[in-house]
Amino acid sequence: MIKLDIVSGFLGCGKTTFIKKMLENIKDENIVIIENEFGEIGIDGELIKKEGLEVLELQNGCICCSIKMNFRDTLIKAINKLKPDRVIIEPTGIGLLSEIITMVESLNLEDTIKFNSIITIVDGINYFDYYDNFGDFYEDQIKNALTIMISKSELIDKKNIEDIIKSLKNINKNAYIIHENWEDISFSKLFKIIDMANSDLIQGLEAIDKKYISDNMKNIESVSVNPLKEYNIADLEKILSILSKNNLGKIIRCKGFVNIDNGVVEVNYINGNYTIKECNINTISKLCIIGVKLNKKDILNLFK
Ligand SMILES: [Zn+2]
Repeated sequence: MIKLDIVSGFLGCGKTTFIKKMLENIKDENIVIIENEFGEIGIDGELIKKEGLEVLELQNGCICCSIKMNFRDTLIKAINKLKPDRVIIEPTGIGLLSEIITMVESLNLEDTIKFNSIITIVDGINYFDYYDNFGDFYEDQIKNALTIMISKSELIDKKNIEDIIKSLKNINKNAYIIHENWEDISFSKLFKIIDMANSDLIQGLEAIDKKYISDNMKNIESVSVNPLKEYNIADLEKILSILSKNNLGKIIRCKGFVNIDNGVVEVNYINGNYTIKECNINTISKLCIIGVKLNKKDILNLFK
């Protein structure tokens, strides 16, 4: 029986970081990862790729809607050709979890592949901001999870964490909620617990009525940039700080790699906060920017 894990969560919550932890802690299994990116370029795949690991990348669309059939075919092919022990799916941050679960169930492959864990990661720092702005959609990811992880909890105070847990329990009273600082968690233990998550729990799948998806959600779009020139850190910080003013649209996420004078840096921008760190990945400069009502032309001009 192939184990299936879905790691869902809104833009920038830490899905890729979490999957890296999974990969470090799950030994002796043949794992296939299906990596879905909303933008037309792949970033997360680059961060995960390593010897002996199959990473199947689906770009330029969302596996819960626009490239549903592509996802279906990829999953079936992965099962039949690669014969994995485990498939891990990382949907885009704006995928409806209920749709993805329904799609997998519709394949009638319950003799071959079994839901092992359905995890939703919520961003501790931006929880209430996203909830207010993307309500129904955000709830869908929370409602349909078996395990909910609060990320970045080391950066917020205790009262705030309690409020988030209260809110999560209102939306999904059955999920196993983990709020500890990820640095303090024994992931090898955690995955043993999550591994026992019972797929019967999925019976209560609660899909949302799509007509209620907020306009904010419908207006999320992406723009891809291939910055041609070499930057220095100061230039790059200037661009990110311009983006954070939200004059060019509400920028929720910007991620990718940029060439600087002496190497490559990894850029991570999440709802106004950003980090730039050195990285040793051999890649071309590429950035994916996701947000609401983007002024794409002016954004592209920033990088000229
Ligand atoms: Zn979708």
